[in-house]
Amino acid sequence: MSEVAIGVDVGGTKVLAVLLDRRGVVLDSERVLTPHVAERPAGDAAAEVVHDLVKSVASRNNLSSADVVVGVGLPGMMSRDGVLVFAPNLPSASGANLAASLRALDPNVRVLCENDADCAAVAEYQLGAGRGCDDMVMVTLGTGIGGGIISHGELLRGRHGFAGEIGHMVVDARGPRCPCGSRGCWERFASGAGVARLAREAATAGRLPVLVSQCGGSELVRSEDITLAAAAGLGEALDVIDEVGWWLALGLANLAAILDCSHFVIGGGLSEASTLLLPAAQRHIASLVEGGPLRPPITVVASHFNERSGAIGAALLAFERLAP
Ligand SMILES: [Zn+2]
Repeated sequence: MSEVAIGVDVGGTKVLAVLLDRRGVVLDSERVLTPHVAERPAGDAAAEVVHDLVKSVASRNNLSSADVVVGVGLPGMMSRDGVLVFAPNLPSASGANLAASLRALDPNVRVLCENDADCAAVAEYQLGAGRGCDDMVMVTLGTGIGGGIISHGELLRGRHGFAGEIGHMVVDARGPRCPCGSRGCWERFASGAGVARLAREAATAGRLPVLVSQCGGSELVRSEDITLAAAAGLGEALDVIDEVGWWLALGLANLAAILDCSHFVIGGGLSEASTLLLPAAQRHIASLVEGGPLRPPITVVASHFNERSGAIGAALLAFERLAP
């Protein structure tokens, strides 16, 4: 029986691996940049990077393939039979069966793949900010928005495994184009890309005079500038964060209407802005959800494991499914 698992989270910009023991303690970790190589067969570059990371973490800890189980979280629609059917933010791996590619690189590896935000939801539900709440949704705000739904204490997977692709709920049918091919998806408004876009719009409309002059032009205002200025208390930047918080709350209200979940755990790269963004979302949600103040309060909290949720959850799933 494996006493340790390696969880790997493949994101749009970086790949993070953690070595986890059965108590959920992270013993080691390593990260590299995500390869985006269009001209190779789908998923080959990602599989090689995951393979190298697993090998590196294992050998540093004197472990062989037989000693560990491996879980891999991938950004996009994961079918129940382990194919990454569609990955708008990692097109070079769309259509790949990464577990099969990993087994081709190392026939002894015991590995499973799952949606990255589903992995994050498992980590937060079992050990983090969702503990004790059997109906919760994990929302990862990064390049896009990922989702993992825990319903009655179980991960909701849907007919084919695609449940929880919440970033592509359409919240504005005439809105901006999304890499998925649709328009006005939620992730165009409330992800890292969403903050950047709303900031650009505000700058062009003359609503960010101080920041535009500091940055040297309206096209030079980045989402980090907004976050930093808002943290320093600049009113015009706080207004943009409040607007992002409203869009975040709109999506959460839709999810609450469908699922009656009362607890949202927010993680991902944008969580640096969470001290301002989450209270804004919490403020707006009551006025956006059906029944508002008549329903029990909905809580919006920051993730416990931050950017490590996905990798930790992938390792927990590897224990559960490969070495119970
Ligand atoms: Zn979309």
